[in-house]
Amino acid sequence: MIPILMYHSIKRVNRNEIMRSIHVSPQSFKLQMLLLKLLGYRGCSVTDALRALKTGGDKKLVALTFDDGYANFLTEALPTLERYGFSATIYIVADLMGDSNRWDDGTGISENQLMSSNEIRYCFSKGIEIGCHSATHPKLTNDKVNLERELLTSKRTLERTLGSPINTFCYPYGIYNQAIADLLPLYGYSSATTMVRGRASTLDNIYELPRIPVNWHTMPHLFLIKLLTSYEDRRRGR
Ligand SMILES: [Zn+2]
Repeated sequence: MIPILMYHSIKRVNRNEIMRSIHVSPQSFKLQMLLLKLLGYRGCSVTDALRALKTGGDKKLVALTFDDGYANFLTEALPTLERYGFSATIYIVADLMGDSNRWDDGTGISENQLMSSNEIRYCFSKGIEIGCHSATHPKLTNDKVNLERELLTSKRTLERTLGSPINTFCYPYGIYNQAIADLLPLYGYSSATTMVRGRASTLDNIYELPRIPVNWHTMPHLFLIKLLTSYEDRRRGR
């Protein structure tokens, strides 16, 4: 069993911030990574985690995922990951590189800078896996969505940016259905992550991997409980 942690933005925000929970403070993040290190865990990418699950390899792995590709990853997460020799997977919104979280416009959620193509290439050069998080961050089950553009053209855009294959997808808002999940292997993806809660195991469909949300309110003791016990598995709701 491998926990796949789900992060978004690593940033200190005010008490009155709307959707404050998608941010984790830099201090909390540092402490969480230190706890992993002290417990003998290694942070890895989703693709590394799946390989280890398949081979029954290293049991002390925790996959680290960062949705949306916020630029604060570079300053607030990457240095800590490098310091401990950890990897991670960042899920990029392919048509919004260097832009901001436009999909949140009108919701009251604050605007946050997304990484540029150069910054994404820099992360990749540091051993961070780049995954695809669609082209524009829509709700994929909406009838008006062009699935080929969101799932395949986006993948090609990122592959051109990196000069390397993209293997993993992350459903925006965790929203998908069977027909969408079935397209992913046809488009050349080898895995996808959801917002279903729980630790990933060999029993999971690799296109419907569960994750463990880490947010502003996740205190250190809860972080450890989420990681080391069946706490999240019981919240899966299946
Ligand atoms: Zn997202």
